[in-house]
Amino acid sequence: MLSGHPRGAEGSRYEGLIAICLALLLGLFAVAVAGGLPEAPGVQVTVDALPGGQPLPGGVDGATADAREAYGAALLRFDLPQDGNGSRWVVRLQREAVESVWLQRGEWRSPTRGFFAPDAGAGVLPSSFLFPLPADWVGPVEVELHSVGNARRALHPQVMGEAQAMRLEQYGVAASAMIYASLFTIGLLALALFSAARDRTFLALFAFASVALLALSAVNGHLYQVPGLRAFAFWRVQGVIALVMLLCAAWLQMLLQYAGMNQTRSRWKSLVDGVSLVLVALVALCLLNVPQVARVLPQVQVVPFGLALLLGLLLLIDAVRRRTLMAWPLAALAILTLAGVVLLELSTRGHLVDTVVVRYGYQLAIVVGVAILAVGLVGRIGEYRHQRDRELLARADTERRMQREAARSDLVSELQSRLRALPMAELQVTAFRLLIDRLMPLLPVERCVVATHGYHGQDQLVVEPAGGLDALRTQLGRRQLALKRQAANGIALQQPVTEEGQPSIVAIEAVVPLQIRAPAWGALLLHRRGAGGFTTEELSLASDFARQTLLHVDQAVAALQLRRSAELDALTGSFNRRTIDHWLSRSFIEGARERQPVSVLFIDLDHFKSVNDRHGHACGDHCLREVALALRGALQEGDLFGRYGGEEFIVILPGRGGAAARMAAEQLRMAVENLRPEWNGQPLRLTVSVGVATRLENEDSPDATLERADRALYSAKAHGRNCVQVAPAVFR
Ligand code: GH3
Ligand code: MG
Ligand code: MG
Repeated sequence: MLSGHPRGAEGSRYEGLIAICLALLLGLFAVAVAGGLPEAPGVQVTVDALPGGQPLPGGVDGATADAREAYGAALLRFDLPQDGNGSRWVVRLQREAVESVWLQRGEWRSPTRGFFAPDAGAGVLPSSFLFPLPADWVGPVEVELHSVGNARRALHPQVMGEAQAMRLEQYGVAASAMIYASLFTIGLLALALFSAARDRTFLALFAFASVALLALSAVNGHLYQVPGLRAFAFWRVQGVIALVMLLCAAWLQMLLQYAGMNQTRSRWKSLVDGVSLVLVALVALCLLNVPQVARVLPQVQVVPFGLALLLGLLLLIDAVRRRTLMAWPLAALAILTLAGVVLLELSTRGHLVDTVVVRYGYQLAIVVGVAILAVGLVGRIGEYRHQRDRELLARADTERRMQREAARSDLVSELQSRLRALPMAELQVTAFRLLIDRLMPLLPVERCVVATHGYHGQDQLVVEPAGGLDALRTQLGRRQLALKRQAANGIALQQPVTEEGQPSIVAIEAVVPLQIRAPAWGALLLHRRGAGGFTTEELSLASDFARQTLLHVDQAVAALQLRRSAELDALTGSFNRRTIDHWLSRSFIEGARERQPVSVLFIDLDHFKSVNDRHGHACGDHCLREVALALRGALQEGDLFGRYGGEEFIVILPGRGGAAARMAAEQLRMAVENLRPEWNGQPLRLTVSVGVATRLENEDSPDATLERADRALYSAKAHGRNCVQVAPAVFR
């Protein structure tokens, strides 16, 4: 349904134009009809009361309950000129809702005309009762006019030449035909619009046009000429009044619908609904066909009719105030209709000559009003569609935003959970892959590349879809300087990609800088085919996702470094005492469980004090680093190495004992012996003594084994240093 929104710019632009066109059409027709109006009839008619008859058009006879039987009569006096223009003279009466009417003069009696009975002699769509007079009547004539049935209006007889009367009839036919055809067309149009737009407002318009067609044709008496609808004559005048009331109710409801007040202005709505209800109740009363009602109704029908018109006008004025589409032309036409009704009323009271404009003017105004209403409704549907489109767009936008928000929180939670467990080497690749996986479904792109240089000491190139990595690397290598500058700029930008030697754009590449501390730098490159490019929203989304990813990589790296600094010895980079103690316990528990040997090697530098003394502490530190490096180089996969304290190192050999352990110890000793460190150009000589001990079968804690290894080391020192001593199973 429609609702009361301010009119759109689209509608207001054409509103005036449409109104002017309709007014022009109406004006043209009015001028055509008025221009062809015959001059005032030259024959003066006086109407006198006839003795014994009621005053015309049929005053109510007190003895007759049925208004239909009311009888009226009058004596018409007129003087027919001698030399007419050759044609016959005609008495013309307004077509009023009387049962029957005829003229009588002595023997002569005219054919009987009736409002409700089809009359073969009356022609198509007659607008008056015509009584041709005998051709030989000349000079002063007195003729009786008889009428049966209660018409509200007085009959004002006119006498004119037949040609003039026929011309008047023709104008009447044109006007009424135009009225019916227009209403019929509007009704059809409303049905078509309903089937196209599926809006019930058009169904209401169809109903309104149909009621208007019925009511106006009943008022003009043409309804009773249509074979199928002739039965409507059963209700006589009450039927006509019922249809007019129904039209008033439909008019009010239509206006309510049109102005959108059926939803917004409840005060108006209840008032209009109340009046409509009264009108419908009157319709029902009319259709009950009670004679008493039939007598009173024609006198009072002007009250509900005027009330409905006035209320409609008020509704329209309110709609004009609220700048509803086409409201002011409609209001103007409502005023015109009102003026037309007043004109008709004046003519039936004898103050105005009954012309086609007077008779059909208000009906024409109603038709144009309905047409403007239809145009306005179509405009309102346009507005409504506009608004619905806007709402759809907004909903799609919200959905997209929600989808992006969900993807963002997915990315963040995955980064949090996945990066925590990863070693340094896999951190960045994993994070960038996640970024690309989450970003690509949101921004349709052909290719997504993350390139970093020196970020946490690494260079990375991650690309999706995979493939063509070497070509990409060389291409990026060529563009490195430009990319670096763009990345340093900090603002996401996009640039066209052209094929070599071709001017046409084949794709758009967006460069989204990664927030990496200089001199390191990095960028996210998005490649989209065609010349469409990226929206600002898309670029900021990509920037946001990239920022989140880097944030989590930075956090993971920091956590990794913190963990390392707690685990490692700062001078040599090997495990510190605490860590190696932890690994010792674990190795012993695992060895006991799997019944595997575990050997422990204590390694102590020989005469290290003298190195310090001779060359200084810095040289001692240098030597410690060199020795640690040499020892680590001589280890096998799975061996564990740490600095136990001072110049003492420890090696754990899980799964090895006996000869294997001794051999490993010997290799380590030789590795140091072969080391040729220098300090200030001076060659140094370093050696180590090694004590070896292996876990005994019943041992699941390292204490006793450590003790034996220490003793073995002591023994090695005692044996002259630079040698390996293996602890016997049990020291005595
Ligand atoms: P040996 O073991 O062959 O019996 O003789 P040593 O001279 O090595 O004797 P000891 O093991 O008792 O000496 C330990 C020396 O190692 C004492 C200290 O000067 C030196 N030292 C311990 N920790 C460090 C260190 O972190 N840096 C340096 N430069 N020297 C250290
Ligand atoms: Mg020592
Ligand atoms: Mg020593």
